[in-house]
Amino acid sequence: MKTRFAPSPTGYIHIGNVRSAIYPYLLARQNQGTFILRIEDTDQARYVEGATELIEDTLKWLGLDWNEGPIVGGPNAPYFQSERKSHYIDWAKKLIAMGRAYADDTSPEKIQEYRDQCARAKVPYLYRNFRPENPPEWHEGLPLRFKSDPKPRCWHDEVMGDMEAGPEVQDDIILIKADGLPTYNFGHIVDDAEMGVNYVMRGVEYLPSTPNYIALYEALSLEVPKLVSLPHILAPTGGKKLGKRDGAKSVTEYRADGILPEAMLNYLACLGWNDGTEQEIYNKDELIQKFAIDKVQTSGARYDEVKLLWMNGQWIRKIADEQGIDALYERTLDFWPEIAANYDDEYKKQVLSIIYDRLKTLSDLRDMTSYFFVDPTIDLNMVTGNKFLKKFSEEELSTMLQLTVEKLKGADWTQNNLQNLLNQLLEETNKKPAELFSIIRIALSYAPFSPALHLTMEVLGKNIVLARLQKTIAALEND
Ligand code: GLU
Repeated sequence: MKTRFAPSPTGYIHIGNVRSAIYPYLLARQNQGTFILRIEDTDQARYVEGATELIEDTLKWLGLDWNEGPIVGGPNAPYFQSERKSHYIDWAKKLIAMGRAYADDTSPEKIQEYRDQCARAKVPYLYRNFRPENPPEWHEGLPLRFKSDPKPRCWHDEVMGDMEAGPEVQDDIILIKADGLPTYNFGHIVDDAEMGVNYVMRGVEYLPSTPNYIALYEALSLEVPKLVSLPHILAPTGGKKLGKRDGAKSVTEYRADGILPEAMLNYLACLGWNDGTEQEIYNKDELIQKFAIDKVQTSGARYDEVKLLWMNGQWIRKIADEQGIDALYERTLDFWPEIAANYDDEYKKQVLSIIYDRLKTLSDLRDMTSYFFVDPTIDLNMVTGNKFLKKFSEEELSTMLQLTVEKLKGADWTQNNLQNLLNQLLEETNKKPAELFSIIRIALSYAPFSPALHLTMEVLGKNIVLARLQKTIAALEND
């Protein structure tokens, strides 16, 4: 089995583009087949510098290794369409020789005239209705068109089922453009045939053009590969295709935000496919094992960023629990707040070990851990405005903190002991946990959230804990 991912290097890696890479990858790996990466860079106007590297880098990040393609090479090199010009010309010449392709020297103005004429007559515009009787001989620099033979066509789509289309959707499509490069419509057919691709998986947006592709396969006496249309990814509100404006970031941005590749792969693989069970978390090997085309859904799948974040949180925990904190820590190196740079790895690992189960993305570390590295700014509004603390006077709050300082001063600084001391304090002060622990937590972190108090204290260390408690006591007294 040979599958391929054939992106165009336009610089922006949309969620949907990546999913079009994942399914063919899974299918190829499941069948010990070949997964090809081919760069479809024939649209010079849309080409973006560095976009190919971005594609390669994203696939590597996701763990989608390719057997043939850029960097690794292969028997069908080159894998850039812009370097395969002679291949398309050879196939085009075959069509010319058979009388199935002709040069098109119609000016854009003339084409516009044809279009206007059709609009006035309220009939769809089809170039073949204006096909010239005596086209000039073809040479490079002139567009080359397919001479279609419109007729009813049937084919099978592995996801969408049995399909049929009438002659009205078949036209004399352009094969070679004026710049000498092929259109997508022609280029991909030549490449898939030469490269031996037998499963063509791509977005459902190519479905309407498929009758034209079938006609081309037929004209070239090529076997039609298995055709697999992948449903659209829909905007979170449903109804329409997910676009840049719907809040979905590019894969590059999600990566920079600290989405793990395992989570991205898992989430996108399950967007439009499920194995019929309740399972939601899959690693790559499980996906390879379980992926099945007949379980790819035919309707669009709604993009849900909340779910992606949830899944990422699950993966953060999974890595910590299965591979250990050191393994998770390696993934976090780019995501700590700047001030953490002065601290050693061991200390950051301790912080990570008590906070990882609250992270949704790795970049949450930036906002959620600063008080482990720098004294927080005192903000008494957080104390007096707290819903559990509102009812106490500043004096009462200060007393609670003083009693805490007394209790902790000579303490043996282990989490078990700290836990016991905090429980004793609850009894001695006759306060509820939400009350006593809120004032201590705020004095230590001035953050909306922190891990369990005894763990936070253990990591911060005695000196810092006592100093921060004292500072808030002083602030309450001087207020
Ligand atoms: N170059 C096309 C795209 O990026 C590929 C479509 C296909 O997979 O055949 O949309």
